[in-house]
Amino acid sequence: MSASLDSMSASTADRFRTLLQTQRADCVHQREEAIAECATSVPDPVAQRRSADLQRTVEEIDAALSRLDEGTYGRCTGCDALIPEERLELRPFARTCVACTAAA
Ligand SMILES: [Zn+2]
Repeated sequence: MSASLDSMSASTADRFRTLLQTQRADCVHQREEAIAECATSVPDPVAQRRSADLQRTVEEIDAALSRLDEGTYGRCTGCDALIPEERLELRPFARTCVACTAAA
């Protein structure tokens, strides 16, 4: 029995890899801007929180990219179900399915 039938095709994986890399570059850029804002003005809690949020997103994206390398991308880390592609389109670094996210 091979698991390849219900795993993501190589072309789909490539598409999400590109999507993740684009989002990552965007987050890094936005985070640099937020950090610059923190540095030039009076400590701005909004910019500080944004910078922390973006850092977390970059980490999520890195984790998603390593799941792509390992071939586990697109599977819920909670219940091992396949995450629907529509969900990944919206949130390519999602690690859990809707049910597990709701339960968390
Ligand atoms: Zn799940």
